Amino acid sequence: MVTTETTKMEIIQEFERLLGRKLEEPAIQKLEKAIQLAEIAYEGLYRKSGEPFISHPIEVAKIVADLKLDVDSLVAAILHDAIEDSSGRVTYEMIEKEFGKDIALIVDGVTKVSRINAPVGNIEQKKKVETIQKMLFAMAEDVRVIFVKLADRLHNMRTIDFVEDEEKRRYKAMETLEVYAPIAHKLGINVIRSELEDLSFKVLHYDEYQRIKNLVAQKKVEREERLTNYIQQLQSALQEHDIDAFVEGRYKHYYSIWNKMIRKGRDFNELYDLLGMRIIVTDVTTCYTVVGIIHSLWVPLPGRFKDYIATPKSNGYRSIHTTVVTQFGEPLEIQIRDQQMHEEAEYGLIAHWAYKEGHGTIDMKQEWLVRLAEWRKELSQGYASLDDLKRELQMSEVFVLTPKGEIIHLPYGATPIDFAYAVHTEIGHHYGGARVNGKIVPIDHQLSNGDVVEIIVNKVSPGPSLDWLRYAKSPRTKAKIKRFFKEKEKEQLLERGKDVLRRVAKKINISIDELLQSQEIQKYQSMHQIDEEEFTTRLGDKSITQEELLIMLGYKEQQKKKVEQKKKRSPTSMVLVDGLETLDILFAKCCNPIPGDSIVGVSSKRGLVIHRSNCRNVIGVGNDRKFPALWRSDITSQFGVVLKMEIDRKERVPDILSRAIEQKIEVRNFKFETIDYDFVIISMNVAVRSLEEFKEVIYFFSSIPGVRKVVRS
Ligand code: MN
Repeated sequence: MVTTETTKMEIIQEFERLLGRKLEEPAIQKLEKAIQLAEIAYEGLYRKSGEPFISHPIEVAKIVADLKLDVDSLVAAILHDAIEDSSGRVTYEMIEKEFGKDIALIVDGVTKVSRINAPVGNIEQKKKVETIQKMLFAMAEDVRVIFVKLADRLHNMRTIDFVEDEEKRRYKAMETLEVYAPIAHKLGINVIRSELEDLSFKVLHYDEYQRIKNLVAQKKVEREERLTNYIQQLQSALQEHDIDAFVEGRYKHYYSIWNKMIRKGRDFNELYDLLGMRIIVTDVTTCYTVVGIIHSLWVPLPGRFKDYIATPKSNGYRSIHTTVVTQFGEPLEIQIRDQQMHEEAEYGLIAHWAYKEGHGTIDMKQEWLVRLAEWRKELSQGYASLDDLKRELQMSEVFVLTPKGEIIHLPYGATPIDFAYAVHTEIGHHYGGARVNGKIVPIDHQLSNGDVVEIIVNKVSPGPSLDWLRYAKSPRTKAKIKRFFKEKEKEQLLERGKDVLRRVAKKINISIDELLQSQEIQKYQSMHQIDEEEFTTRLGDKSITQEELLIMLGYKEQQKKKVEQKKKRSPTSMVLVDGLETLDILFAKCCNPIPGDSIVGVSSKRGLVIHRSNCRNVIGVGNDRKFPALWRSDITSQFGVVLKMEIDRKERVPDILSRAIEQKIEVRNFKFETIDYDFVIISMNVAVRSLEEFKEVIYFFSSIPGVRKVVRS
């Protein structure tokens, strides 16, 4: 036994002293039982300091008692490490059976929070720190979880010197400064916040800490003398007005002095508010009366009067602040508040709770949820009930942990498959199962806040299953699974393309590399602005057939006709580009080139586009994208070309159309527009085989009476 019966009683008496009240018999028994269970849980364990481990939870419980929290919080503090550190000697179920669900949940909450390893020390990580704070709040359905956790951290920081590993010490200090102190601040627990800050400050900037400590100590006597003088002056002024008040001197903690020096770039001696005074009165009205008295005694500094009673700070802080200049010409910062405000300023939410509890009306959980809502202001409107609010707080997101304590932030309802993909895409692809808090769970298991999730990786898995889309809750997970299948398809096409290359290379008796390096294929790639992989993929999906490839390379001359016949509707193979047979070309719609026109090839994403050389869309195209092109001489296909003619009367339109048909001109499209009574324009798309033929068509129309002008559009 680590503790004997007497020491157990001594511990409880110490709790009573710190709580400032006597405990009833049932509460004492409860605490005794808790200490007894803790002895079992921590038996044989020691702290880095060499003390038995149980000294830690007892000290944590003392901090909790000093905060004037309830007996359940004390019990939870005594047992806060029991589930995690007792190697199964103490379980959640045991605590629940022995002490009830509330205490078990607080212990469980502290256990979960303790598993988090906050990423700290990098400003860019600030977002992550916010996430951790959010997670703490989301997990701590009972705010006492956070109180106990803060007490735990405070004791660990008080004993941080026993941790030998410097890096670990610095990490803990940084985590305290960046995560836990701000949480204490948010809850308004100033006593814990300033101690956490100073303890971290000492670890992180030891020299600076010592320097400030010395500076504060140096003129302490002198400063205190003057302060006593001020306090006396003020007290006699207050007595004249029959005001009952408690006046005390006030000292800033080291970290906040240092912070102010750094932030404002000031020297220690330039800091105003080193010298401060606090006046605590009985009620709100008196606060304002006291301000008047102070301002008639000393001259107020303009711009330094702040009424946080009328407009409290976001963490609930209320007080009046003013800075005056004393008869010695030095600034003096004064805070004025009533007793309740004072306790709230020191103990924040806890004080609030204590007051309410005293009146026995308000449920702490409700208070807590309302406070949460205030912090997340966007949530403060539109809630019909606290239950709605609670649901919303819990519904939007869920925070879970990797076995290393890193936080993974997922949408509400997320499953292990979402977790796996959030950790790493490859881990997602090789999902083989999952353990949540040590137990194997199915893939559709819904994750809860604080769960520790471990993915079982299946190294030989060929990849995701389409089924997984049904279990994934996060859109990002779904997108990753879909992308996998798209890429897989592309891979298959690439493989098929490689098969074509292999066959063709074998046929013409060269290596695949030589084939890919051939002038013809290189040219095709540069004309279509594609790389080797895309070229191979096109072979795979048959955008380019094996026969076409052979023709491109100048083989299989005899099969060329067959291919041309198969593709006779498409105007390929009509143009020689750079002297080479070229398949897969397009004719530009802007200039409608016809055989006989001087032409040029322009490479584009869609393929090689044939324009007329004088097309205005070709001007400005770089030479690297232009390829000299020639018509083949044996073209028999027809090409559409647009002509425009100007005639003198619209009555002539039917005549012109019937003459064209009589002449066997193939008109594909015909329209006219009356510009004026003697000015009509006809647009006509006609099909021709060559420029020669088109010239004849123009000549024919020009010779019709009433036609004033015929031009190619
Ligand atoms: Mn602990």
